[in-house]
Amino acid sequence: MVKSQAKDPEWHLNDPRVRKWMVQCVICQVIGYCADAPEKFFGRYHLVKYFKPIDLDAAGICDDCRQVLDLSQLTVDS
Ligand SMILES: [Zn+2]
Repeated sequence: MVKSQAKDPEWHLNDPRVRKWMVQCVICQVIGYCADAPEKFFGRYHLVKYFKPIDLDAAGICDDCRQVLDLSQLTVDS
């Protein structure tokens, strides 16, 4: 068994080739990878394995938080 850095998800955070595809929601701070990331790029295998795709909007808000915001918006409007 070869012990490699690939087993440690933290190493991704230090590699700019991987970092460019990582995203973080400004509200819940969840970390994932860009849902628009290409089929192939360095480190994709590990990103897919350790993180989930996150579709941030222009404000940097993930789908989950956006739904919560939409709901609260509806409550305010009604
Ligand atoms: Zn969020």
